Amino acid sequence: MIIEKIDLLRKFLKEKRQSGLSIGLVPTMGYLHEGHLSLIRRAKKENGVVVVSVFVNPSQFAPNEDFDAYPRDIDRDYKLASEAGADIVFHPDTEEMYPPYSNTFVEVGGEMTKVLCGASRPTHFRGVTTVVNMLFNITNPDNAYFGQKDAQQAAIIEKMVRDLHLGIKITVCPIVREASGLAMSSRNKYLSEEEKTQALVLNRSLDMAKRAIVNGQRNSAEIVRMITDRINKESLASIDYVSVCSYPDLIAAEQIETRTLIALAVRFGKTRLIDNIIIE
Ligand code: AMP
Repeated sequence: MIIEKIDLLRKFLKEKRQSGLSIGLVPTMGYLHEGHLSLIRRAKKENGVVVVSVFVNPSQFAPNEDFDAYPRDIDRDYKLASEAGADIVFHPDTEEMYPPYSNTFVEVGGEMTKVLCGASRPTHFRGVTTVVNMLFNITNPDNAYFGQKDAQQAAIIEKMVRDLHLGIKITVCPIVREASGLAMSSRNKYLSEEEKTQALVLNRSLDMAKRAIVNGQRNSAEIVRMITDRINKESLASIDYVSVCSYPDLIAAEQIETRTLIALAVRFGKTRLIDNIIIE
């Protein structure tokens, strides 16, 4: 079932909760792929009712970004989500989520929202935490599912849940990749064939870094240099950042000692892709 209205969704979920079913939420911006579906399948295993939200959230896009161009196909999303185990696809329009004059935001403070993607997208995470909070308030879930593909986002949401005592269990699911190694993303649709081929460098350079660490390299600057050199060999690639930091705190470290995130964002033409690896 597709539900577009907040009141209707609340009513539906209230009945389910009263009959003892747990609620799992999978927030998405739609144009679903196997990465999203892996979250939905996991949610289905662990919950009585699974809600998948499909909402391209304007407040997480800057004015110069791809909000208008972002791919949308609710019929296809509904079919895929249902097949993967969704009971409800929540598909509100912008006015439903942001009525005129709504002007309240939820923002995680400190450095973790300012580094990595936060540096080039300064208002992005505030938009994400605001809409995820709305979705939490509307659905009151027991469990919510996010992907490691957006590792910084997952860390920030876990922090918000702790700081605000939301009492929701957050599960972060592994990155799903194409057979080629390219991390699945709705934005891959924007890539030309040549850009798509060159974009394989993201996963390959992360793998190369992992091998270097396994072989004893502990110097973060050296890892960054290695990845940067490799990516710069691709003619269409333009690096936004390559970063090595602790996870989930996202604090830069000269030496790799604890659980470490190696994350990168690279533009191919107009398309900005992100990828990462966590070294335990
Ligand atoms: P999006 O629709 O891009 O906002 O993504 C919705 C959720 O799906 C987020 O929690 C993402 O981290 C997750 N996700 C997106 N792509 C992947 C992927 N390739 N593997 C695993 N999770 C993903």
